[in-house]
Amino acid sequence: MKKKGTKKRFLLVANWKMNPDSLEDAKVLAAAFERKAKKSARTAVVVCPPAPFITTLVGNGKKSVRIGSQDIDHRTEGSFTGSVSARQVRTSGAEYAIIGHSERRAAGDTDAIIVEKVLRAFEAGLKVILCVGEDKRDHNAQYLLAVRSQLMAVLAKVEKSRLKQIVIAYEPVWAIGKSFASALSPRDIHEMSIFIKKVVAEAAGKDAGLRAQVLYGGSVSVDSARDMLAEGGVDGLLVGRQSLDAENFNGIIDHADSI
Ligand code: PEP
Repeated sequence: MKKKGTKKRFLLVANWKMNPDSLEDAKVLAAAFERKAKKSARTAVVVCPPAPFITTLVGNGKKSVRIGSQDIDHRTEGSFTGSVSARQVRTSGAEYAIIGHSERRAAGDTDAIIVEKVLRAFEAGLKVILCVGEDKRDHNAQYLLAVRSQLMAVLAKVEKSRLKQIVIAYEPVWAIGKSFASALSPRDIHEMSIFIKKVVAEAAGKDAGLRAQVLYGGSVSVDSARDMLAEGGVDGLLVGRQSLDAENFNGIIDHADSI
C-alpha cells in the first residue's frame, strides 16, 4: 500500500542544458532548489544538469531534488566517443533521462533512435521524460498528427507495464527558448494534455491514458507557471531558462505548492 502523502501532485523538471558554467555554480543552484523542495509536500523536483555534474549533485539519496540526465546514447557500450550510456547515468545516481528533446531531434535523433534510447533507459532502471512537440502550428490540425506520430512511435514499441516509467513532456518546438509571452496558453495546454492522454489510451488502454503523466515545456516563466498548472490540466512543467535562476525556479515551486 502506498504511504499516505507520498504522492506529489506536480512534477517540475529543470533542464539546465549546457549551463551553468561551472560545477561550483551548479552546486549553489541545486542547493537553493534543495532548500525549497525539502519544504514542499506537494511538488517533486528533478534537475537535469550537464552529465559531468550528475555524480556530485546526486548526494546521499536522501535529497528532495532528484537528478536526471539530459540525454543518453541508444547503444549500451562501445567506441562512441563523447556518448554516455543509460547504465553509466543510472549507476552515477541519476533516476531520470530526458529523451527526444527537440534539440536532440534537431541534432539527428529519429523516432527509431528515440525508441532505442527509451528501451536502454528502461533496461538501466531509469524513468523517461519523453519530449514530443510539433515544429509549428497550422490551421488544419497537422500539429496534432505530428505529436500523435511521435508518441505512437514509442508507445507501439514499449510494453504496457513500462508506461508508468514514462512522463510525457509536451514541448511545442516553436515555443521553446522564445519570449515568455509566446508560451502556449493554459487553454491550449489543456487541449493538448487531453489529446496526449487520448493517444496513450488508444495505444495502451483507457486506464493507461488516465494515468499518463503529462508535462508542458516551452518558455515557462515564474509569471505564467501558476495558470499553466492550475488551468492547463498538466501534471507539471519542464523548465529551461527559468531553472537557471534560483529565485524564479523556487517561485515556480511555490506556485505549484499553492494550487
Ligand atoms: C526546453 O528547452 O526544454 C525549455 C523548456 O526551454 P525554455 O523553458 O527556456 O523555453
